[in-house]
Amino acid sequence: MLLAVLFLLAAAALFFWTVTYFTGSAESVVISVHGEKTGEYDLAFDQEISVCGGSNIVQIKDGRVFMKSASCKNQYCVNHAPIEKGNEQIVCLPNQVLVQITEGRESEIDIVAN
Ligand SMILES: [Zn+2]
Repeated sequence: MLLAVLFLLAAAALFFWTVTYFTGSAESVVISVHGEKTGEYDLAFDQEISVCGGSNIVQIKDGRVFMKSASCKNQYCVNHAPIEKGNEQIVCLPNQVLVQITEGRESEIDIVAN
């Protein structure tokens, strides 16, 4: 019985992942340091990303992104409101860290259709 439940959960998770992957509804978060892209992360998955060896900590939670902590003096990036939409960004000027949301694949399809 327990195995059956686990199997169903796994199947549901796989199905959800597949749908998310192919529809491209999820937007992604691109992190750049000193103008160079260091990584791209799925906005749909909650996670904590250490940037610059931990000088900046970026948190993805509930489809929103914010700077959890930073070593900079002004803390503008930490006080910045969470971002969640395409082309919004948080910049940490002292550490030259850029956190940016890119538009999902859906938008690209829209552009092609138009
Ligand atoms: Zn900062």
